[in-house]
Amino acid sequence: MKALCWHGTNDIRYETVPDPEIEHPRDAIINVSSCAICGSDLHLFHHFIPTMESGDVVGHEFMGEVMEVGSENKKLKVGDRIVVPFTITCGECDQCKRGNFSVCERSNRNKSLADKMFGHAGAGLFGYSHLTGGYAGGQAEYVRVPFADSTHIKVPDSLSDEQVLFLGDIFPTGWQAAAQCDIEPTDTVAIWGAGPVGQFCVRSAVLMGAQQVVVIDNVPERLAMAEAGGAIAINFDEESVLGRLQELTKGKGPEKCIDAVGLEAHVSRSPDSVYDRVKQAVMQETDRPHVLREMIYVCRPAGILSIPGVYGGLVDKIPMGALMNKGLTVRSGQTHVKRWSEDLLRRIDEGQIDPSFVITHTADLAEGPEMYNTFRDKQDGCVKVVLKP
Ligand SMILES: [Zn+2]
Ligand SMILES: [Zn+2]
Repeated sequence: MKALCWHGTNDIRYETVPDPEIEHPRDAIINVSSCAICGSDLHLFHHFIPTMESGDVVGHEFMGEVMEVGSENKKLKVGDRIVVPFTITCGECDQCKRGNFSVCERSNRNKSLADKMFGHAGAGLFGYSHLTGGYAGGQAEYVRVPFADSTHIKVPDSLSDEQVLFLGDIFPTGWQAAAQCDIEPTDTVAIWGAGPVGQFCVRSAVLMGAQQVVVIDNVPERLAMAEAGGAIAINFDEESVLGRLQELTKGKGPEKCIDAVGLEAHVSRSPDSVYDRVKQAVMQETDRPHVLREMIYVCRPAGILSIPGVYGGLVDKIPMGALMNKGLTVRSGQTHVKRWSEDLLRRIDEGQIDPSFVITHTADLAEGPEMYNTFRDKQDGCVKVVLKP
């Protein structure tokens, strides 16, 4: 089959690789109808995530038709149309039973490696390094879905691929980030990053009834899309983020702050980001936490910081004194995708939201390597790319 494979920094190739096969009776093989490039794939593209190996098939946002099921898999049959959550879940361990699917205790087959790095391993993820199980990803013609009787979302034929594809990652990721904020009708919710996840944070916070939703980015197309979704836009190249947030909240600061940027904050003019780039270059720090620092500083005391943005390792100069003395709550995590899927599928079906709004580019899987560049450079108004195998 054909797939997009990782070969190093800025090197994704469209290649022929062996077809996947059923390896366990709970597996299924799907024929991919649509897949997407996620913002967090760029962290792989830039080689910020360790334990990638040359030839790994990438991609963790995909859907398709079931073409083969293992003998123990009673939940799926050939021909079912499913979206595949990026977090692989056994459905049976203590954490899965509690709905904490992204920290499933059984699905990461390289658990000991991740235990060593993080204390406790998280779930296995598709196409996202050997630290998260080394599973082949979904930017491919076919994918083996492990624990497929648990790891799937069945979708009705009445909804298009474009409407449901993002149920596997960016929609529940934005939703969970907003849900973790316990939004109240009097809240101002400030969201750093107007990429695809930031866009879903905006729409989710609006659906949850926030009084004011503010988004911070410097790409005009992304800011315009967020404004269309109900946000007030701050372009950090043109105005002071702190000044404008103070003005919008009468000096009190936003009650809820969401970091939809993560480890590769691109702001380049602030003194702390110069510091981060230097430390990163000499391998004294792995991640660039500019957004985290800014959120801690500006957040209203007793507020909540929600972090859906991906971090990989160590960050430096986090103002712990401000965090503690202001009484801030920090919530984070990979997305417990299945916790939200039923509710979000219903909301799409009822027309409360049509997630296809975020798609700016659709291309053949063969054009994937080129589309990674377009997405990275935000050329041609690119916010979200869907690929068709
Ligand atoms: Zn993702
Ligand atoms: Zn589990």
